[in-house]
Amino acid sequence: MNYFQMSAEQLTCEKNKLETEYECLKRRGLSLDLSRGKPGKKQLDIVMPMLTCVTEYEDCVSENGTDCRNYGIIDGIPEAKRLFSELLGIPMKNIIVGGNSSLNMMYDSIARAMLYGVVGGDRPWVEQGKIKFLCPAPGYDRHFTICESFGIEMIPVKISSTGPDMDTVEALVASDPSIKGIWCCPKYSNPDGFTYSDETVERLASMKTAAPDFRIMWDNAYAVHEIYEDRADELADIFELSEKYGTDNRVFYFASTSKISFPGSGVAIMAASDDNIAQIKKIMGAQTIGHDKINQIRHVKYFKSAANVKEHMMMLAEVIRPKFEIVGRVLSSELDGTGVATWNEPNGGYFVSLYTAKGCAKRTYQLCREAGVTLTNVGATYPYGNDPDDSNIRIAPTFPSETELEEAMKVLVVCVKLAAAEKILANM
Ligand code: PLP
Repeated sequence: MNYFQMSAEQLTCEKNKLETEYECLKRRGLSLDLSRGKPGKKQLDIVMPMLTCVTEYEDCVSENGTDCRNYGIIDGIPEAKRLFSELLGIPMKNIIVGGNSSLNMMYDSIARAMLYGVVGGDRPWVEQGKIKFLCPAPGYDRHFTICESFGIEMIPVKISSTGPDMDTVEALVASDPSIKGIWCCPKYSNPDGFTYSDETVERLASMKTAAPDFRIMWDNAYAVHEIYEDRADELADIFELSEKYGTDNRVFYFASTSKISFPGSGVAIMAASDDNIAQIKKIMGAQTIGHDKINQIRHVKYFKSAANVKEHMMMLAEVIRPKFEIVGRVLSSELDGTGVATWNEPNGGYFVSLYTAKGCAKRTYQLCREAGVTLTNVGATYPYGNDPDDSNIRIAPTFPSETELEEAMKVLVVCVKLAAAEKILANM
């Protein structure tokens, strides 16, 4: 029954029942973690043969003759560029293959913009007074941390299943030249699992910006991270659209193999227009002699083609899918009809976004923690850690085993209901 329609007496009775259940769970002394957006061991085990596919000198020679064991090539070996080019549909010349982390490339991109400025701007961002970024929220906390560390003011923008609220985005960027960019996780967004609609991508590419040096930080972290073979979301091509509107300098594109191969030991890329790439490479030349080419060639030798990467992602999906199904099943069997939570059922990515009744996320987090279940810090999915509704909880199902996940979910739903019952009764 819907908690909001219960009488005080009915709800008190329900709360007493939940408290008894909760005390039983607490006595079990659990130690479970739903906070980490990391692959589980089974996923990583699948990739192990990659570690032995480069063992001889011959394996280390790039197609252009470069010995990958030695210094050189700042923007990546050609075969690594080709693999990402096929996978993401971006010309090789517009790709820089970097090190082990796309987040690192995002941080560096902002740092460069702050210190040197970007193509189209007349000064570095740091010389332009207060600057701001639009932050579709909920979003990826580490994007927000980058802004905080550079003192960039964050403006939250609502996100829905079609992407950021474009009426708000267009109005803000058209009127305020201090808004220099927007963070986007356009496919299977973190944490909601939303994929931006074609219309949203087109509006981002075509919108008028008051800042001539505006950038879209297009973090396509989950570009090929389908959970179901027959239910893949399609994301429009931001480069094709930005070329159509003459705004191609606006896009900084990022991706990596972190959740394809090994997080922390994968290969990251950034992609951008010809002019942007030229500027970035020049500045990068002062920063490094080149990234880890042995790891690049290892990825190429192991995967060989974009088609094989996609096949590999289906093998990973076999491991991940049952976990997403556990989350969906427990949420729906325990919370359907109660009116105290909603949640998303994404077709890919790494997370399920749960929305508790307003004002109940922090209390749910606390109850879970006391019962031995760690959740992602509530609020972390919003700029400055401030969820205005105190409602969003990011569930990361991939790391725990299926048994652990099932147990943790059972605790979570009791805590969601108990927090809501307490809140509604207190307001009666
Ligand atoms: N971007 C998003 C949206 C993520 O969720 C993550 C990891 O969780 C990353 C980037 C990190 O990527 P990388 O490992 O390539 O730095």
